[in-house]
Amino acid sequence: LTCCAWYLKEGGKIIMELKILWMYHDLMDLYGDKGNIETLRYRASKRSINVVVDTCTLQEERNIEDYDIFFLGGGADKEQTLIYKDLLARKESILKAKENGTAFLLICGGYQLFGQYYLDQDGQKIDGLGIYDYYTESSDRDHRCIGNIVVKANIHDKEVTVVGFENHGGQTKAVSNPFGKVLVGHGNTYKGEYEGYMDAQTIATYMHGPLLPKNPAIADEVILRGLNHRYVVEQLEPLQDTLENAAHDAMLKRLNVK
Ligand code: GLN
Repeated sequence: LTCCAWYLKEGGKIIMELKILWMYHDLMDLYGDKGNIETLRYRASKRSINVVVDTCTLQEERNIEDYDIFFLGGGADKEQTLIYKDLLARKESILKAKENGTAFLLICGGYQLFGQYYLDQDGQKIDGLGIYDYYTESSDRDHRCIGNIVVKANIHDKEVTVVGFENHGGQTKAVSNPFGKVLVGHGNTYKGEYEGYMDAQTIATYMHGPLLPKNPAIADEVILRGLNHRYVVEQLEPLQDTLENAAHDAMLKRLNVK
């Protein structure tokens, strides 16, 4: 048997736990980003994985390195301004989590804040964590990136289409390793070619909507990465995903993506 979620490499059924940290749940939650948490919870529970979701807001103490998944949603400039100092104060704990193999899912405003900086529309510079080289500068009003978006991403050598919605003024540049190639929409820059950032631990994207309910392949990738923080899991047991795929495919059809 090559591994599925229930088996460690040695074989044998175990009950696994997935600890998710939902950062700034009360401030960074645009266009249904909280649906990502519900999807992770639902899909992990379907595999009999015990899910723990802890929230964390300003000044609340949390050891980020104790979590399997770190989730940070998007926010308007106002919310980003409100949280960035608190986020920067947690840099050490975030770096520790990175070192220990925590999986990161970052949406839009959250994605931007892991880079060097975000320069907002009023010319105010919001420092990022500087964990990645990319930086974001606001466009003029005519070049705001708004609308439905489809990207093609590569997950374990498999091409998947990812559907979502974007609404950002920020143009993210110097992205070494994008999440996907834009098929419809803008992505990192106005009418850009690439979208988001991805490495072995982090998926960072402009896609709201929320991202995960309509993109089960990405949801499972995040769960798999999270589980591998503490266990050795090669593959998750497949779910039926009739509704999820129908929602995904309806967007592709609407946007004329073959
Ligand atoms: N305020 C940022 C921008 O406009 C992020 C917006 C968002 O999270 N949707 O670029």
